Amino acid sequence: SDQNDEVKIFKTKDNKLDVAEHYKKERGGAREHLYMVVIGHVDAGKSTLMGHLLCALGQVNQKTMHKYEQESKKLGKQSFMYAWVLDETGEERNRGITMDVGRSQFETKTKLVTLLDAPGHKDFIPNMISGAGQADVALLVVDATRGEFETGFDYGGQTREHALLVRSLGVSQLAVAINKLDTVSWSQERFNDITQKLKVFLKQAGFKENDVTFVPCSGLTGQNLVDKPTEIELLQWYTGPCLLDVVDNFRSPERPISKPFRLSISDVFKGTGSSFCVSGRLETGNLCVGDRVLVCPSRESATVKGLAIEEVPHQSAFAGDQVSVTLSGIEMQNVSVGYILCDPQNPVQIASKFQARIVVFNVSVPITKGYSVVIHHQSLVEPAVITKLINQLHKSTGEILKKHPRCLSNNSSAMVEIQVSRPIALELYSECKELGRIMIRVGGVTIAAGLITKVIS
Ligand code: GDP
Repeated sequence: SDQNDEVKIFKTKDNKLDVAEHYKKERGGAREHLYMVVIGHVDAGKSTLMGHLLCALGQVNQKTMHKYEQESKKLGKQSFMYAWVLDETGEERNRGITMDVGRSQFETKTKLVTLLDAPGHKDFIPNMISGAGQADVALLVVDATRGEFETGFDYGGQTREHALLVRSLGVSQLAVAINKLDTVSWSQERFNDITQKLKVFLKQAGFKENDVTFVPCSGLTGQNLVDKPTEIELLQWYTGPCLLDVVDNFRSPERPISKPFRLSISDVFKGTGSSFCVSGRLETGNLCVGDRVLVCPSRESATVKGLAIEEVPHQSAFAGDQVSVTLSGIEMQNVSVGYILCDPQNPVQIASKFQARIVVFNVSVPITKGYSVVIHHQSLVEPAVITKLINQLHKSTGEILKKHPRCLSNNSSAMVEIQVSRPIALELYSECKELGRIMIRVGGVTIAAGLITKVIS
């Protein structure tokens, strides 16, 4: 077919211009695709807000809405109706919490947005990490109700941790929904108060002021979600954009389509017949049907039999795409979640000991040599030990404050050596931001985030 010839030409010539041209041809007319993760403390109203937004944009049909309405009435939890749009399983419904990173899409004037709905419950942070690892931008939802913002922000809530997490995972643009403003009569003072507190914190967390936008809204009433406000009390002081326009105004992320091919596997599942599929985000480069790929760290090669984006078959895919890949020439049991598919000519590194520059933000006991942790690298979760504290560093300048520190406490930055329980596929942050970041957790709590700076062995 024409399409196949096109792909062959673009692959055999193999230079940057061809990839860029091919990308333009394939995607030129399309809306820019943006992946957005929704974060915030449990009960901040994330599901309600996104559910309402999807309904308002006509992404949910009347029949489904009606069904949800009836079911929620029956259970006496009518306010959960919108949240159900995003929660698919019955178990989640009965518990009233969002467990998985559910997926939904909507369009703005210039963008196609795929939602990665993050769960707010404490136990579910690993899911959130895999959601955030795929995200280009984030929407932070905070509850403006008196006392509730404070619970989520000051007293062990997840507002801070989620924001730090997404920033460490490379998300730099943030929309902040100051939600449930209906509960405080659309008070400008309350809005300003919360905004001020968040501004100070978000700046410390590494967000640039110009990359953060605050939007007053109510997920329940639908105020200021997809249209200009109608609420008189809000109109009196707010003239800014609605949430949908804020999302539309995000800068489109760069797609490193000409770099070596890397895909981090977030799921492995059976396909039709004897074949099986892996899915995940194409971090860098491009991939075509027929390509040979290397699975790391197992170092086995495989062939790409098929490719799909959002369940639609494609001949090629590019950095930034969320894809399913049908593989042949390899056994399913030799591929796991957290593995990396890469270009056999230009593979990723495989290491069990490496150096990382970390920022510590949440330890109850200071980190010392021999500290046991769990490393999260994309979708990989692996036990590890901090084997050396090399230098303590200045948080922003990176200048050495102390050589061989005895311990590291909150808000410190350091160069450390980490030994993973078995080899993992990774990249230096300087080579590939996407695969050069790690999160460090202990006992279910994220204590630090880091950048891989050197492979030792
Ligand atoms: P999530 O845990 O962040 O996904 O929060 P949910 O969407 O499940 O909402 C938690 C609770 O807050 C539910 O009882 C909602 O009905 C309620 N809620 C959500 N959004 C609003 C809002 O804008 N205004 C008011 N008054 N209540 C809301």
